[in-house]
Amino acid sequence: MAGWGQSGTGGHGARLTIDLGALASNWRTLAALAPGAECAAVIKADAYGCGTGRAGPALWRAGCRTFFVAHLSEALAARAALPEAAIYVLNGLPPGAAGAFAAADLRPVLGSLDEVAEWAAFSQGARPAALHVDTGMNRLGLRVPEALALSGDPRLAAAGLDLVMSHFVSAERPEDPVNARQIADFARVRAALPGLRGSLANSSGIFLGGARHDLVRPGYALFGGNPTPGRPNPMRPVVRLEAAIVQVREVEAGASVGYNGRWTAPGRRRLATLSLGYADGLPRSLSGRGHALVDGVACPILGLVSMDLIILDVTDAPAARRGASAVLIGDGLDVDAVGKAAGTIGYEILTGLGSRYVRDYDG
Ligand SMILES: *Cc1c(COP(=O)(O)O)cnc(C)c1O
Repeated sequence: MAGWGQSGTGGHGARLTIDLGALASNWRTLAALAPGAECAAVIKADAYGCGTGRAGPALWRAGCRTFFVAHLSEALAARAALPEAAIYVLNGLPPGAAGAFAAADLRPVLGSLDEVAEWAAFSQGARPAALHVDTGMNRLGLRVPEALALSGDPRLAAAGLDLVMSHFVSAERPEDPVNARQIADFARVRAALPGLRGSLANSSGIFLGGARHDLVRPGYALFGGNPTPGRPNPMRPVVRLEAAIVQVREVEAGASVGYNGRWTAPGRRRLATLSLGYADGLPRSLSGRGHALVDGVACPILGLVSMDLIILDVTDAPAARRGASAVLIGDGLDVDAVGKAAGTIGYEILTGLGSRYVRDYDG
């Protein structure tokens, strides 16, 4: 296998490939699903683990002009990659941070009346910001009655507000009645605050009726996650993770594998060791539950996932040998499936992809 030992694999024989063409295509797919609305991109957590420095410009080239991140530090990285973009910071305005926001031309998503007042005092209406209204999450944002009471309030103009947004509790579960309640509450808020653009939908919200408003805010779906769980994934996969087999060994019945001997061979087995583990973002909860693909054959992960190593049962995969590739994410084994096997969600798999990989970019 040419190249496994080279710098492109981070020296540990694992290769994380990000398909920027698929990312751009996913953005266009989502934009087409929200005609008449602007399609922004949420690139928090280093673009869901894919790397803001490359993912941001790829989205810009596809036509995306507005971006959301969680923190000021992420926003500064986004600004470096996206000099002309509108960049909103979802987690709000920390006390005393207005100057740092302004210096990088960043827009806080103001999540309380205190934040509105602090931004207004600093910006004197000259710098745009968004207003976050809480319709059910109870984590950030003004309560609906607080937002309704701002109708006609001069503080709105003083804070330079240009966008009002809220966030779904359960958009990926269209049958959950909370969606309709949030859609109705957000419509009331928008009616009370005319003149502001509105934004409600995350990835899954784009697939709910009546939630698109003026701007949609997909994140996960851009990076290949399924915004419609239980239904076929309309998005193209963006992330591929492969690792070279370090060694293959045969064991006899009774041999134990890994820490605490959590798995014992029931008969003669062929085992393959891969040079990545939980420090690379493969959760320890994949122990005995996940699998990798060797030449298309599903090979179970045996025993406990170690920090830097995992062990596969490759008895049924004759192609397994030193240097052969095992696919951890890709070839139909998607981030949603890996998340499910790990007892979590694909979001956590993507954002957990470790810092030891050298990210390889296609396109
Ligand atoms: C993370 C986030 C999004 C994007 O959500 P996805 O489900 O990844 O599309 C949108 N809006 C807010 C407020 C968020 O925190």
